[in-house]
Amino acid sequence: SIPLGYFGGIGAASRLGILFKGGNYLDAITKINTVVFDKTGTLTKGTFDVQACKSAGDISEEELVKLIASVESDSTHPIAKAVVNYAKERNIERVTVADTKEYAGFGLEATVDGIPVLVGNCRLLSKFDISFPQELLKITDTIVVCAVGNRYAGYLLLADALKEDAKVAIDRLKALNIENIQILSGDKQSIVTNFAEKLGISKAYGDLLPEGKVKHLEKLRQDEANRIAFVGDGMNDAPVLALSHVGIAMGGLGSDAAIETADVVIQTDQPSKVAEAIKVGRLTRRIIW
Ligand code: ADP
Ligand code: MG
Repeated sequence: SIPLGYFGGIGAASRLGILFKGGNYLDAITKINTVVFDKTGTLTKGTFDVQACKSAGDISEEELVKLIASVESDSTHPIAKAVVNYAKERNIERVTVADTKEYAGFGLEATVDGIPVLVGNCRLLSKFDISFPQELLKITDTIVVCAVGNRYAGYLLLADALKEDAKVAIDRLKALNIENIQILSGDKQSIVTNFAEKLGISKAYGDLLPEGKVKHLEKLRQDEANRIAFVGDGMNDAPVLALSHVGIAMGGLGSDAAIETADVVIQTDQPSKVAEAIKVGRLTRRIIW
């Protein structure tokens, strides 16, 4: 049976906007010594501002935005939402898109007027054997690359920003003696490293496909001493949430799959609530024993 104290703990947590799905997680969270964060939408705002548009020359910049936004309108990825908003704000109308397929960690494939269109990262173009200027690999911001009719057509430059709360979130975990803090991301290594440095996190792993994130978690779990919390918001995070000892979903922007799989749901967009959740767990334990 569940000790009565856990109900008090669950209530206290819920008043802080932290939803524990069971008393057992309130106990499990006190044992956490490793916290692994997803980057986009968890530590960063995930809202992305479009900074620039660069056409390869076959179509105008407006046509490029139109095409990318049209293909992205079928996706719920934070990048997709940002690009669709950008086009809306500029009253750029969308065209009809067919046969859309989304590749997690890559982007989208679709057709427009029967012509194949790719929208995603450089990895997506490589996957389809489409060559692109190698300078693109040196850009240290997030880019959305587009190919039309199997030819590189241009890109949009996007910028994400850290959440106001992100540094506090990491500092509070360190104050709770959580030594092992990591960031995992499907975004480029250079971008992930840059954010990690700003936060004082030395373990930053980028360029990971969803399977790569799963492998990373499996490897961490091989050491029984690691008690792992994964904190994520994304649609591709469900498998890693399930693999962690305590899966924590950010409910603010979070996807339904992540919220459903998680053991703990943070109902605000503040990653600092992770430390608060650990604190409530520790306090509850002190009351019970
Ligand atoms: P993360 O949440 O860690 O950034 P994802 O697996 O969601 O990882 O995405 C990894 C990368 O795949 C993104 O940084 C982006 O380059 C690309 N990507 C995924 N989905 C899309 C999309 N709908 N549009 C453009 N790029 C995408
Ligand atoms: Mg994600």
